[in-house]
Amino acid sequence: MHIADFTLSRLPRIEFGSGVVARLPSIANQYGLYALLVTGAGSLKHSPFWANLTTGLKAQGISWHHLTIASEPSPEMVDEAVRILRTEPIDVVIGIGGGSALDAAKAIAGLLKPGNSVMDHLEGVGPELAYAGPATPFIAVPTTAGTGSEATRNAVLSRQGAGGFKKSFRDEKLMAEVALVDPDLLATCPPAIIAANGMDAFTQLLESYVSSRASPLTDSLAWGGMKAARDGLLALYADAGDAEARARMAYAALVSGITLAQAGLGSVHGLAAPLGAFFPIPHGAACGTLVAAATRINIEALRAREPAHPALEKYAQVGRLLSRQGKLERDASHAALIDTLEAWTREFKLPSLAHYGVQHADIPRIVADSRGSSMKTNPLRLDDGEIAAILTARI
Ligand SMILES: [Zn+2]
Repeated sequence: MHIADFTLSRLPRIEFGSGVVARLPSIANQYGLYALLVTGAGSLKHSPFWANLTTGLKAQGISWHHLTIASEPSPEMVDEAVRILRTEPIDVVIGIGGGSALDAAKAIAGLLKPGNSVMDHLEGVGPELAYAGPATPFIAVPTTAGTGSEATRNAVLSRQGAGGFKKSFRDEKLMAEVALVDPDLLATCPPAIIAANGMDAFTQLLESYVSSRASPLTDSLAWGGMKAARDGLLALYADAGDAEARARMAYAALVSGITLAQAGLGSVHGLAAPLGAFFPIPHGAACGTLVAAATRINIEALRAREPAHPALEKYAQVGRLLSRQGKLERDASHAALIDTLEAWTREFKLPSLAHYGVQHADIPRIVADSRGSSMKTNPLRLDDGEIAAILTARI
């Protein structure tokens, strides 16, 4: 076994398990007595969880300002929150929700003290100034199993429309201090959200597993995450009351955040960025609808141009894992991998790109804007025609 060079950047303190969210007030108390709570605009406030949380915070003597995030966060949303809150003596930022709430909370925590615009730091737009900090301590509590934002060092912000973008504010100092991953919080997640987010988590695991920056360390994590997703995703989609399935998907999503932050991603996430910027496509839906076609095209391109590339054997391993056929030879296991991903796409009724308004005439500008940081760690360099073919397959 060859051990390639790698860097493991620091991780949050991770507390994982049924009921761990009850520890949130006492953990927050370690950072101070005034919190910024950032949540989604959904049903949280009407759940028993919210009543328990607010009672617990009060019992710890903690007061808070509550900010809700109604959509995928934009730079303007982050700047406005920082402008209003920067003079408040906030000790800790607590993000509770899906990727949008967690990414907004992460970006705001990063800028509350420095007070400058997030546009100064976004990758690929503006001056890309180095982030010096300091960040306000951030506690991440995911309520969906998808982005893994609780374990990543970037916040994805987007501006939608014709001149839109979807870019990262990224720095190791943005990493959460604590990630509280409580699978019970998935119990009220609707099936369509479970499907899209679960496909995102699986895509993140697969792309980091075959990434050009993968290491033995991320490989072992990604492998366990993919196994958990294989055993949990369909079951959770069928029944969010299945506690074992909830734990498996919460684990898969958490691990996908760790592996993507350390190893990078690939062509699906390269395309998800311009798709999400130009069209109102939720991130999980974009990844879920593309992953089967992108995997097929990566495999075909590797076979044609780099037949000795180690990613081909890795794709075969994943095909054997998902199909539970450990003895399949390489070509058959590649077919099994693609078949499984296509079957999931059908089972979850993931909409085509056309459903969100993408037309064939849009392909050139999507392709032109797809070569961001994720595309750089795709196992091989795809040409424009191959990237276009991924989109064409799903319009
Ligand atoms: Zn993703």
